Amino acid sequence: MSCQFVQESISGYLDRQLAQQERDLVGRHVSVCDECAGRLARITHLRENLRSMPQARAPRTLAFDLQVLASKEYLRRQQTGSISALAHFWSGRMRLWVDNLMRPLALPFAGGLASALFIFGTLVPNLGALHNSANDRPTALLTEATGR
Ligand SMILES: [Zn+2]
Repeated sequence: MSCQFVQESISGYLDRQLAQQERDLVGRHVSVCDECAGRLARITHLRENLRSMPQARAPRTLAFDLQVLASKEYLRRQQTGSISALAHFWSGRMRLWVDNLMRPLALPFAGGLASALFIFGTLVPNLGALHNSANDRPTALLTEATGR
């Protein structure tokens, strides 16, 4: 067994994640190899020191923030998982874009149209009274008055 393999397996050895046969091989190698035994001792000491440190408290909002992140990631994967989901996702985004674009324009447009119809409706009957042509003389046929 090579020293490189043993040194890469030390964490698994300490965590009891190796198969029993690999664990026995690492244990035998460490008993005869000073370099690997020293590395095992350093890592074991480091772990003991880390365990003796006071535990830092997680921020209160960490669980909530992680749930929000997980929810967003789940939604993103749902939306981009298949072609139909992707099409549904983009149609929703386009619908939202059109809504956001049209809503600011819809009220001014409707107000302008209503006021134009109101003004046109109130002025049209008055325009007919101004254009009474019953006694109208065609001005192109008039001659200059003579002074007799
Ligand atoms: Zn070794």
